[in-house]
Amino acid sequence: MSALVLIAEDEPKIAQVLDLYLVREGFRTVAAHDGQTALDLHQALKPDLILLDVGLPKKSGWEVLGEVRRRGPTPVIIITALDQDIDKVQALRTGADDYVVKPFNPVEVVARAHALLRRSHGAPTPNVLRVGPLEIDLEGHRVRALVEGAWRTLDLTLTEYRLLTHLARPPGRVASRSTLVDACLMGQDVLEKTVDSHMSKLRNKLRDVGCEALITGVRSVGYRMESQV
Ligand code: CA
Repeated sequence: MSALVLIAEDEPKIAQVLDLYLVREGFRTVAAHDGQTALDLHQALKPDLILLDVGLPKKSGWEVLGEVRRRGPTPVIIITALDQDIDKVQALRTGADDYVVKPFNPVEVVARAHALLRRSHGAPTPNVLRVGPLEIDLEGHRVRALVEGAWRTLDLTLTEYRLLTHLARPPGRVASRSTLVDACLMGQDVLEKTVDSHMSKLRNKLRDVGCEALITGVRSVGYRMESQV
């Protein structure tokens, strides 16, 4: 399947031109006309690349870029109206992969998109953890399990998600309660038995989808995720 490019640009004419050239080059495209929609589409569709205008309504391109970077490594080309050094510095410091300045030549933008995708496809992107029937989407914070040929979603609290992810990286080793408190309940003044309470709820949810064998309690120590179930 061809690469999906998210075009985040509020000026319809510029968005149309980019769309036209990208589609002609074989890309698939999706458009957002404000920053919030760009973030929603990024979350929902996981585009291969984002063309991101700095001056967007609702959320600025900088805010969008910051959030996209927190979520993962999606390549981003910043589009800025101002040919000012501060924008270039900010773009690269905030984690953009490239930038273009308006008015731009759309052929050049498409060439940069191609180059960036070639570069980024060289690096593995470990955004999904798989352990047995379980799949943890680290960008979308979603967890699902393949049970009898069907995907079942687990609705986890943030703490349960952190516990699960910690045990899954990598599975097969025992994590002590104190390690889990430090790694998953940071900033909270909790007793180690609080971990047991969260873990018990997490294991109930795993049992509900038929994956109860995935996490084992290790007496007097902590917990382990099995690498094979
Ligand atoms: Ca704009």
